[in-house]
Amino acid sequence: MIPEDKLEEVRLANDIVGVVQEYVALKRRGQNFFGLCPFHEENTPSFSVHPGRQMFRCFGCGRGGNVFGFVMELERMSFIEAVKMLAERAHIELPAFSRREGDGPTESEQIVEANQLARDFFHTQLLNQTNDGAKHAMQYLIERGFTDEIIRAYMIGYAPEGWDGLAKRAQGSAIAQDVFIKAGLLKVGQQAGRPYDAFRDRVMFPIRNLAGRVIAFGGRRLSEPEPGEPSAKYINSPETAAYSKGRELFGLWEARNEIRRQERVILVEGYTDAISLAAAGIRCVCASLGTALTEQQARLLLRFARNVFILYDGDDAGLSAARRASDVLLSCGAEPRIVVIPGGEDPDSFVRAHGTEAVWSLVNDSKPVVEFHVERGKASGATQAQLARELLATAAQIPSVLEREAFVQQIAMHTGLSADTLLSELAQQRKPIQRQSAVRQAQTWPPKGIETLISSSLIRSPEIRDRVFQEWSPEHTRDERLKKILIHLFDAHMGHRYPDITHLLSVFPESPERDFIATCEADDELEDDKRIEIDLKTALDCLKALQVETVRNQINDVKQRIRTEPENPELTRLLMELIAREKELRGASNIT
Ligand SMILES: [Zn+2]
Repeated sequence: MIPEDKLEEVRLANDIVGVVQEYVALKRRGQNFFGLCPFHEENTPSFSVHPGRQMFRCFGCGRGGNVFGFVMELERMSFIEAVKMLAERAHIELPAFSRREGDGPTESEQIVEANQLARDFFHTQLLNQTNDGAKHAMQYLIERGFTDEIIRAYMIGYAPEGWDGLAKRAQGSAIAQDVFIKAGLLKVGQQAGRPYDAFRDRVMFPIRNLAGRVIAFGGRRLSEPEPGEPSAKYINSPETAAYSKGRELFGLWEARNEIRRQERVILVEGYTDAISLAAAGIRCVCASLGTALTEQQARLLLRFARNVFILYDGDDAGLSAARRASDVLLSCGAEPRIVVIPGGEDPDSFVRAHGTEAVWSLVNDSKPVVEFHVERGKASGATQAQLARELLATAAQIPSVLEREAFVQQIAMHTGLSADTLLSELAQQRKPIQRQSAVRQAQTWPPKGIETLISSSLIRSPEIRDRVFQEWSPEHTRDERLKKILIHLFDAHMGHRYPDITHLLSVFPESPERDFIATCEADDELEDDKRIEIDLKTALDCLKALQVETVRNQINDVKQRIRTEPENPELTRLLMELIAREKELRGASNIT
């Protein structure tokens, strides 16, 4: 276990606002910061970060916690890994600590470790230039205008030609071979037990997630394939526990600060497009990794900027893909524009042939979706009605009423049809799109009731614990999770310690306990004295209610026994006593 003071040191060194901002664009409102929740789908921000308490909370999906919880939730990491990552971020050295059971790295973390080792291996191969293949790769990159700075920033590498370059390196490492196979870096051949390199003679582009960790690779072939070799020009890592391709955007980590600063992003399809633009000084760019843009990717992008410029290949296939991507972005509440590259070129070849300024002027000439669609449709001979119908299908997906209407106005302007007609057509088309939102996932824990109520008072107000625990010990709490929290508070009280919420979040870092503890946070408006008074009253009322409940259970027990031994006067006397006791307790409180 990591010593508690180290844990605190790491937590305090990582300001939660700064950490969250690496993943979510936040706006200040009063004391708090707000943004779109990274854990559930939403179009209006219900996710808030409280710098004073160093906590986050989402009123939409109910998640909450401190900086450790945030990183765990977002990176799907264990508590220990989150602490390690944040310690690294703050340049704090952690002492060697023994792992508890369950602390071990997850499969996803192991794959990331293998990937990072491979990234270093490939990158060193490229920089050291020790073989012809690496020289060839470097030449290829220089021809594309990739500077040394870009090669280092994106940590581009080279996978050598032989069959066992990485395999040998893997053997000498502490990571099990099996993990490299799971990561798709090594493959097992016909001769069992002799794994070989999956990427050979390829330029390697590490794909990083928002924590900057390598979750996969893209590899571009350099030589013509030998018979039996994979002939694809580009191959990517397979989907793994660390990587699912519809969820990540290539280059977002590298570009995120620039995207936030410019409040706009240029979306391209391939990683070479993204890196070429970055090499030309256009830094607010990321790539959808060669798949059709998914809703998850669109939402990821939206956490950084609403203004999205889609810059796909200029040929027909590219423009159709751009149009489809615009639908996904619109349905998520973004404001996409489509950039058209003349002559069917791709962004990579265009920027190399025409330079940076030419790209910016294309971006400035980009078109809103309606204009793009109508112009392209007219050129292929589509009728106004046809175009309007296609655009209404897009309009139907726009979540905000205001933006939807503005979109319809644009359709009217560009097709010459009346907005009223279009709106009534839209009303017919628009089937109620009910999004499955995370909010409606019934929260089954904590249970509604007295135990939860008393727990939240005790968690929120350490000041009342002595008074409450004088009369009550939580060992008979029925709910196991609440019992663990309450026992922790009770034991701490016995040792004259009074952990507050922030502290408890590090003791119970896993969901749902963490989320529950975070929701116990006091109202900002409430003064401390008032809060303590209310919580004490609530807790004492709960105690009475718990006592009533206990007596009622005893009454039921005795009634059962009377049924089997109706002649026992002792039982009758006991029953009368219990009933009197219940009456007394009920009289003393308002709870029935
Ligand atoms: Zn949420």
